[in-house]
Amino acid sequence: MKLILLGPPGAGKGTQAAQIVECFGIPQISTGDMLRAAVREQTPMGLKAKEAMDAGTLVTDEVVIGIVSERLQQADCGKGFILDGFPRTLPQADALKRTLSALAKDLDVVVSLQVETDALVERLTGRRACRNCSRGYHVRFDPPAEGLICDTCGGELIQRDDDQEETIRNRMNVYHQQTAPLEDYYRQTGILKVVDGMAPIAEVQQQVFDILRAI
Ligand code: ADP
Ligand code: AMP
Repeated sequence: MKLILLGPPGAGKGTQAAQIVECFGIPQISTGDMLRAAVREQTPMGLKAKEAMDAGTLVTDEVVIGIVSERLQQADCGKGFILDGFPRTLPQADALKRTLSALAKDLDVVVSLQVETDALVERLTGRRACRNCSRGYHVRFDPPAEGLICDTCGGELIQRDDDQEETIRNRMNVYHQQTAPLEDYYRQTGILKVVDGMAPIAEVQQQVFDILRAI
């Protein structure tokens, strides 16, 4: 199963990807997670990406296309993969097509999560993640059992630097200008499926799993 989870920041891509990983046993390829790891490790790529990430703008196509092309060639992608947060521009979508074609692979489906802007802002300002294992939470919609402590590993829950209101506004603008056109791009290829992402997490999961099981 080879799929893209498409949607604005806060739509629930990472949340749904975690459930798909668990149930379908295919890896999640999150460019945001990979870039944050590079920033933490202060690699040359991380140092280059940090400024754009802090400002809520996009890292260059060249950098993200490079990391995804390399990642897709790893053995664990043999059975499939979930792209989360990539592609985000038309040149990235074109590059993905070329990379997959060189690997004799094709996308099965692009699942687009539709969520209203006000709900996105509420989701992003309340988002927390475990410092240790990265499991995602929401202070209101998906809280941990106790305090700000991860249910899975007991790690501390923290807020992402770019989940502040002003950066969120930039990220929304960037999404509308550069990423939203991808919905038409994939609609034209006939593999786009639209999901009501406003529903509670478990209901969105049901809709997504129904689509994946029908493939
Ligand atoms: P994305 O990966 O698309 O940026 P996330 O999966 O990180 O989004 O979700 C953003 C926040 O919204 C998280 O705190 C998550 O717990 C919460 N969330 C995800 N899906 C839903 C939903 N269907 N209803 C309410 N909150 C949700
Ligand atoms: P995310 O975790 O998907 O919300 O991404 C966090 C940040 O990483 C974004 O605001 C961008 O700065 C950067 N980023 C992630 N994926 C991409 C991508 N495909 N293209 C460009 N920048 C990206």
